[in-house]
Amino acid sequence: MNVGILGAGQLGQMLALAGYPLGSRFTFLDTTGSHSADLGEIISDPHNRRLNEFLERVDVVTHEFEHLPVSLIREIEAHRPVYPSSRAIAVCQNRVKEKALFDRLGIPTPDYRVVTSAAELADAAQTLGCPVVAKSATEGYDGKGQAVLRTPDAAGDAWADIGHEQLVVEAFVDFVREVSIIAVRGRDGAVQFYPMAENQHVDGILRYSVAPLPDLDATVQQTADDYIRALLDELDYVGVLALELFQTRDGKLLANEMAPRVHNSGHWTMDGAVTSQFENHLRAVQGLPLGETAAVATTCMANVIAREPDSSRLLGQADVHLHRYGKSERAGRKLGHVNVVARDHAELARKLEACAALLPDAPEPMFSFLP
Ligand code: AMP
Repeated sequence: MNVGILGAGQLGQMLALAGYPLGSRFTFLDTTGSHSADLGEIISDPHNRRLNEFLERVDVVTHEFEHLPVSLIREIEAHRPVYPSSRAIAVCQNRVKEKALFDRLGIPTPDYRVVTSAAELADAAQTLGCPVVAKSATEGYDGKGQAVLRTPDAAGDAWADIGHEQLVVEAFVDFVREVSIIAVRGRDGAVQFYPMAENQHVDGILRYSVAPLPDLDATVQQTADDYIRALLDELDYVGVLALELFQTRDGKLLANEMAPRVHNSGHWTMDGAVTSQFENHLRAVQGLPLGETAAVATTCMANVIAREPDSSRLLGQADVHLHRYGKSERAGRKLGHVNVVARDHAELARKLEACAALLPDAPEPMFSFLP
């Protein structure tokens, strides 16, 4: 099958790398005019003139980026199957719709309000109790379009800084850790769940993900599985879906946001699971049986951000796998990731410390299960 991918960044590239052994071939539609994927066929289309060329080449379409016009996805759906569908994308690209779906399915979230002016933002901060986190309803990712308000008086500046007409304002969660659940649903409705990962963010950007977790209660994984299954079934979803959650002191899970695609907190599966999230996404969209999702090793994914490390020194470490994206260095930019695999968490902690020391400006790994 020729798989069409909307977007041509690192997620698309890793999808293609996983698809070649399955016999899949790839055509990318890049609407930004600056792709980083470097395989398959790339149609650069910043002025929306080459959609027909793309459609002629592909049997099925998926995407690696959800902030695309829903009208474009609908247009493509009129000609080719698109997985996940425009409905799933429309919900996931808008925090207000996403929160409404969580509410409808009984998936707990931080307390929140939707506001459309600086005055409403100040009111919401007062009612929810500061600190609160204000987030643009659309277009936000990696902590962009967000502000933390320490007092309601900060509403005017935060409103101006974010510069959007609609915001979601959330109570600040005093979480024990951030976790995510990744699951995949096939065209036939079959679902597989990956072991949950613990994620460490700095300034809204993911730095490390560890999976599986040594101290994760089976009931917590079951709860996360139930939440994500409800979302998958409700959206009649096909492909990989990621749900980011906060785990609170009493063990409860609160949904933060979801991503309708392969996700950075699932990159560990490339070297640490029986079937990677990328392969499983491709199996799903092509109507193939899903692969096993169990972990084969204790794994930590470390993002390479802004500056490249010395590859030889990194690869000189045992059990380190480097995945580079072919991008140039820039502040805040994800340039690659490293998967460190180990037999157990004590060994993982040692190897990760050595690896992090070789990553420029990497924060100290801090996981809830480490001493
Ligand atoms: P998001 O873009 O919504 O994933 O937010 C980026 C990061 O900001 C999250 O991974 C958290 O570290 C932090 N964050 C977002 N919302 C909240 C919240 N309601 N309470 C505490 N921290 C938050």
